[in-house]
Amino acid sequence: MKKNFAIIGLGRFGGSICRTLVESGHDVLAIDSNEDRVNEYMNIATHAVLANAQDENVLRSLGIRNFDHVIIAIGEDIQASILTTLMIKEMGNPYITAKAQNEYHGKVLEKIGADYVVHPERDMGIRIGHHLVSRNVVDY
Ligand code: ATP
Repeated sequence: MKKNFAIIGLGRFGGSICRTLVESGHDVLAIDSNEDRVNEYMNIATHAVLANAQDENVLRSLGIRNFDHVIIAIGEDIQASILTTLMIKEMGNPYITAKAQNEYHGKVLEKIGADYVVHPERDMGIRIGHHLVSRNVVDY
């Protein structure tokens, strides 16, 4: 079933999620506060918007509360990530996936109600570790 997604932050993480979702036929609103990033995704996402997601009025005017799923892919600016997650959580409806920069950041995101917290480097390391182990089992 077709779902509508909003992605906040178009770095390597948010950007690759955006491409994958669009390729799978979903509608994606892509948001970033960096103009170059927004221009890069203008022809990829369904809509690409230059905006600061920390501004509650911006989130309201974009109708974020009506999305099925919001991905908060801001990493380095931990304050922006937490504040944005909190505001969207308070809006009620969307399922929230949030990227954590470190363990503490991840714990806070869970506490304030992010539905799924991703630690990209850690999670990918675990996956590759399992993949290497299972390959070794097959190889020998
Ligand atoms: P990645 O690790 O995914 O490549 P990155 O290293 O580019 O990301 P991050 O700090 O994780 O950098 O930020 C990801 C994106 O989030 C950036 O493109 C940045 O412009 C955007 N971003 C940061 N703060 C905000 C904000 N308040 N509103 C909207 N976008 C933001």
